[in-house]
Amino acid sequence: MDAEVGIIGLGTMGSMTAWQLAKNRVTVLGFEKFGIGNDRTAAGGESRLFRTAYMEGPEYVPLLKEAKVLWRDLEQESQNSLLTLNGGLMIGEEDSAEIKVIKESIEEFQLEHEILDKEAARKRYPQFKLYDNDVVILDKNAGFIRPELAVVSAAYQAKKYGAELKPYSSVEQIIPDDDGVEIITSGRTFKVKKVVVTTGAWSFKLLPELKDKLIPKRLLLTWFAPKNLDLVLPNKLPIFARLRGDFRLTGAPTLDGTMVKASYTKDPLTIDDPDLLYRDVYPEEIEKLTESVKRLLPVLYPDPVRATPYMDAYTPDNHAMLGALSNLKNVFIASGFSGHGFKLAPTIGKIISELIIHGKTNYDVSHLDPNRFSNIQLQ
Ligand SMILES: Cc1cc2nc3c(=O)[nH]c(=O)nc-3n(C[C@H](O)[C@H](O)[C@H](O)COP(=O)(O)OP(=O)(O)OC[C@H]3O[C@@H](n4cnc5c(N)ncnc54)[C@H](O)[C@@H]3O)c2cc1C
Repeated sequence: MDAEVGIIGLGTMGSMTAWQLAKNRVTVLGFEKFGIGNDRTAAGGESRLFRTAYMEGPEYVPLLKEAKVLWRDLEQESQNSLLTLNGGLMIGEEDSAEIKVIKESIEEFQLEHEILDKEAARKRYPQFKLYDNDVVILDKNAGFIRPELAVVSAAYQAKKYGAELKPYSSVEQIIPDDDGVEIITSGRTFKVKKVVVTTGAWSFKLLPELKDKLIPKRLLLTWFAPKNLDLVLPNKLPIFARLRGDFRLTGAPTLDGTMVKASYTKDPLTIDDPDLLYRDVYPEEIEKLTESVKRLLPVLYPDPVRATPYMDAYTPDNHAMLGALSNLKNVFIASGFSGHGFKLAPTIGKIISELIIHGKTNYDVSHLDPNRFSNIQLQ
């Protein structure tokens, strides 16, 4: 055996899993196709939003509370500042599905928040255009994470705890059998007891049986210049989800206070091959985005000054696949985070490490059961 656990893909989830396993004295062998922390993965683009009043479902709140604790642990261990909590504004129509779920999350878990009346909101946050039926909620436990630094920090902490990491090593195939899993790279074959597949948008390539369950999609990140610099400083502008029907923006101020990252992430485009991602911008990606800026965040000039596409794997229900694959012995998966997984990453690493070490976890992750899609046929 070359190690107890092989981790395929040392991006967001892989680096956090390596950190958690190695910290618990499990021998880890990690493989990464590119460099550690590289910008081609789902972890590129300078910032990721952290929110706890969660519009994707209250069942995530306990995982998010744990994530906040673990982000602080990683900061302490790596001596890097990774998570800045400058608050999060959630603005949307009172009767929208997202606002309803945000309110449910707040109520069920008594989350720290403020609901602002429109007059107060206009005064405090003049950046946003508000309409009559809008609700303005300030999530006090929200902010942004520095994603590339977070991945590098977790990977190098894992290394400190003894993990062996192999950057620029693409895994071509995994072959599970009764006593472990073979990992095949172009140079060599390795043998480990268990494997964790954390290959993000590339996951279906290693697990072709999951092609229609882990769908690579393209997400364009865009940055805008402000009309008034004073209004976009991180201490004046919280992170935000500004939602209004088909028009919507999610984003954050840049750390240097000169721009705003504001993106339109509804209905992302499906891509055939993550290795052939088109690096330019499609005109149809920009239309709804610029219109959203004009309608919702008019303190910005509406044409993006920077636009970079990234990818994530999406599942049919937009909830990830996390845990052991029932039909593939000794193989665990943490993939399909459907555009909202970064904030959860350290908790995901902890859960996989618990599942591997103890065979169970105390967190309720039944909504992320990787075997929930009944028509999955593996081997
Ligand atoms: C543009 C964008 C904005 C987002 N915004 C937010 C946000 O604000 N907040 C939030 O919480 N989430 C956000 N997300 C979602 C979040 O970033 C992702 O869900 C998360 O990063 C996915 O992590 P991952 O580990 O699955 O994939 P990745 O981080 O992409 O990691 C996969 C890794 O596997 C490697 N790999 C692939 N194939 C192989 C192979 N065969 N051998 C070896 N290595 C391989 C890749 O190189 C990569 O490093 C966003 C995602 C995108 C794309």
